[in-house]
Amino acid sequence: MNPKNTAYLIKHFPFFQKDFKFECEDGWFNLIQDLSEKLKLLNLPDGCVTQVKQKMGGLRFYLDLSDVHTETRVMANYLIGQEEKLSFEICELCGEVVGACTKHVSK
Ligand SMILES: [Zn+2]
Repeated sequence: MNPKNTAYLIKHFPFFQKDFKFECEDGWFNLIQDLSEKLKLLNLPDGCVTQVKQKMGGLRFYLDLSDVHTETRVMANYLIGQEEKLSFEICELCGEVVGACTKHVSK
């Protein structure tokens, strides 16, 4: 992910550590931003996101929620699951709906 998008997410969402690296392309910036807006409402602990990456064509979003109330953890996992499912429909490189994007089909 480019430095501008990375800086934006770290600045707006304290659950990303200051030196956080997003291990996916910029096409998923909107997905990650959208998910982060929802997660923000759960008041997650600062720096609790451990990894955000692409695996097997889908977004993976990992958190350390060991210190969080069970209901919050269930809710966070639900929101993440929804967005991870959605990521299969969005081109990781350009953010187009898969099918509408003709440039990156081979990936
Ligand atoms: Zn594309």
